[in-house]
Amino acid sequence: MDKKFKIIVFVKQVPDTDDIKWTENNTIQRDGLDSIINPYDLSALQTAVEIKKYRIKNAEIVAVSMGPKQAEEALKQALALGADRAYLLSDRKFSAADTLATAYTLSQFVKSKEPDFDMIICGQQAIDGDTAQTPSSMAEKLSIAQITACKNIEELSKESITAIRETSDSVSKIKAKLPVLITIDATGTYLQPRINDYMRAQDTEIIVLNAEEIGADPAKIGYAGSPTYVKRAYRAVKERNNTVVTAQAAEVLNTEIENVKTSGGENG
Ligand code: FAD
Repeated sequence: MDKKFKIIVFVKQVPDTDDIKWTENNTIQRDGLDSIINPYDLSALQTAVEIKKYRIKNAEIVAVSMGPKQAEEALKQALALGADRAYLLSDRKFSAADTLATAYTLSQFVKSKEPDFDMIICGQQAIDGDTAQTPSSMAEKLSIAQITACKNIEELSKESITAIRETSDSVSKIKAKLPVLITIDATGTYLQPRINDYMRAQDTEIIVLNAEEIGADPAKIGYAGSPTYVKRAYRAVKERNNTVVTAQAAEVLNTEIENVKTSGGENG
């Protein structure tokens, strides 16, 4: 039998709120918050499901998350939405990772457990960390091509991909050889799991792996492997310098404006 076309989708669990609170160490306060799948990662998963359904026969989707035990909920949802298998990378030693340590951990998982992948699909960014750095850093560590900010896949075969990449100031068509990493710049999904999908998800085992099981170097993960840290976190407050103009002053101002208009702007 042909080798399956393997698509790895990375999904991150994020707090379900805009009202993010911070710990005294400037990390996100996650206790007491409901969590959701990062909306960009739902689109990444949807892209994988569409590839499996319409573009490549014999494809399989592997969903992967790094996080605490509760991230299993996100993976169960990914399974219900169409993933075939799921892994959770969970170890206290992974905590307090910056984007470099996160990318190292995710790439180390790929190298040790699923090295024969064809595609990696990530969200364009996570709505809590918001850096969009993890996927590019991962592609670099895996020495594969990457296409970020994908809006649309024009062509896909087992050998190559052509995708439309769109940023705020450019639209480009990019062709790359597989294996490839792409990030999807869209949020949400139309996928709706049915009861059978939920039941299959509940019955599918999520494989939980720790640092040792993916052969991670302790110096490159978690806090130890993070050269950056958050020095200060604050909510930006937009302040306006308003000047109150009295009715009398406004009248004088209007007269002046009219004078300038009628003189063709020659009064200075
Ligand atoms: P992005 O790079 O924006 O994510 C893009 C995509 O990558 C996602 O859509 C998803 O597909 C994939 N992805 C990202 N993270 C994961 C994941 N965990 N599992 C699966 N897929 C993933 N967090 C702490 O808890 N404690 C800290 O001390 C801490 N320090 C930090 C210091 C700095 C300087 C920075 C920049 C971040 C820090 N973080 C910390 C946040 C942590 O680095 C991020 O949660 C993580 O590195 C992912 O980055 P991001 O959220 O910006 O994801």
